[in-house]
Amino acid sequence: MVDGRRFPRRMADIGIKEGRIAAIGKIESRSARSVLDASGLIVAPGAIDTHTHYDAQLFWDSSCSISSWHGVTSVVIGNCGFGFAPASDADQEYLMQSLTRVEAIPYAAIKESLPWTWKSFPDWLDVLARQPKAVNLLAAVPLNPLLINVMGLAQAKERHATPEERRRMCELLDEALAAGACGWSAQHTEPGSGGDVQRDFDGTPFASDLASDDTMLDLADVVSRYPNTFIQTTLSKVGGDKGNDETTAFMSEVNQTFLEKLAMTAQNPVIWNAIGTDSRKPAAHRGAIEWSRSCAQRGIQLFPQVNASGAATFFTMEDWNLFDDSPTWRDVTMGSPAERLAKLTDPSRRPGLREVQPTRGFQRITILRSYHPAFEHVSNTLLPDAARILGYDSLVDCFIDIVVADELKTKLQMPLLNEDQGLANELATVPYGLWGISDGGAHTKFLTLGSYPTECIINFTRDHELVTLEEAHWHLSGLPAYCAGLRDRGVIVEGAAADLVVYDHQKLTLLEEEIAEDLPGGEWRRTRRASGYRHILVNGEETFTDGVPTHREPGELLRRAS
Ligand SMILES: [Zn+2]
Repeated sequence: MVDGRRFPRRMADIGIKEGRIAAIGKIESRSARSVLDASGLIVAPGAIDTHTHYDAQLFWDSSCSISSWHGVTSVVIGNCGFGFAPASDADQEYLMQSLTRVEAIPYAAIKESLPWTWKSFPDWLDVLARQPKAVNLLAAVPLNPLLINVMGLAQAKERHATPEERRRMCELLDEALAAGACGWSAQHTEPGSGGDVQRDFDGTPFASDLASDDTMLDLADVVSRYPNTFIQTTLSKVGGDKGNDETTAFMSEVNQTFLEKLAMTAQNPVIWNAIGTDSRKPAAHRGAIEWSRSCAQRGIQLFPQVNASGAATFFTMEDWNLFDDSPTWRDVTMGSPAERLAKLTDPSRRPGLREVQPTRGFQRITILRSYHPAFEHVSNTLLPDAARILGYDSLVDCFIDIVVADELKTKLQMPLLNEDQGLANELATVPYGLWGISDGGAHTKFLTLGSYPTECIINFTRDHELVTLEEAHWHLSGLPAYCAGLRDRGVIVEGAAADLVVYDHQKLTLLEEEIAEDLPGGEWRRTRRASGYRHILVNGEETFTDGVPTHREPGELLRRAS
């Protein structure tokens, strides 16, 4: 077993009683009701995924897949400032819309999933507690519903909260934390800061993007009164070095200063997004790692999410949503596929689209498949190569002509992060880095990042041998448990919850991506499975055996430990 605390692995029996680890050592198997033989296998704590968006999915998929397929036994929902409580009747429709673009969760799937039987955050927690689950759940208070509940949507998108409104928000947060919420979350990417790549469903900034420093610091102060809570944030403020990629924007001095202030006010962990690598800017992640190390040395509780998997996104222009930092491209990627097609076909827009390009750019897009006779032969070609073959000077013209010819059905791919394995390997040793950012339940047409535990174990401990298994399971379980305020999970010690994975280290395999047509509302998603996990246990009960669900639902709502 590997204990999640970085102590050396050892051979031992683990006795489980009433969902908890009752004994570790030599245990007579005769005394047990059932025995799992783990000889030759690794037994480790289940992974704790602090960054997911299963808020709606939980209502149609009690296992929160794909995370649960990869050894995740506890998830945090309500991340990035998005979620469904608190919510007045009038707020419900908008809150569902608010996840459709930024997190790319289909509206129909959300609408069919949510029973809307709650209003306040404590009500929401009660609903979550009753909902059957195969994983444990922690719920963060998202900043957007909080702002909108107090100020109204229109006002929250227009101005800062008054001192009276801030006081009311603090009261609501206080009530939520007292009822067991694990903390609060916000995407705060100010328009024009270089990091505002993700906009609301109608193309405007989110209320949380515009929230004042005072609002966030007041809410951090509430957190300071509740031990074992945390803040999760993606922060990008105006006034920093915009650079030409978001990692740099996240790392400007103005952002660092504010994050440090937030963490010192909260006196609890602040989990910030994110460290990943971009081969065009290798200095960016190294700078972030250095700053992270310096925070740790100064006793400031800032913990980076480490975007540890090789994220490539698959997309079509029918629903692509990550060009939002360019106003001209944001405009043509809004609306229904027919509306988008009309805008992209309009010749009067072409010069503008050539001129004002999104940060993510076109150089690294691959045309996976074109269906049009004129372009079919450039399928499986990087866009710059396709442009050369087809005789285009402008990548933008080449790109638009292809997707328009295909009526936006061209299959496209773009690396989001970590396309250079050498640089990605530097992420294995980020001090106090939480491996992950699965965004589980979100971006499901584009990404399958929920597979990160499998990918990290394979890449970092086996194929490249960058860290030991002891280090790996601390990054996957022990450390996120600490940050999320869980004092009896994420580690294998007597008395801790029996959330365990049992797997074959040599045979662990990440399988190919698949398409699953299982979302409510007739929607589809991209999924990815693993093989090699023999047993996955949540609160002592087996949820998966050799990748097959047992259909047991032993997960619990984990209310803040007081
Ligand atoms: Zn998120």
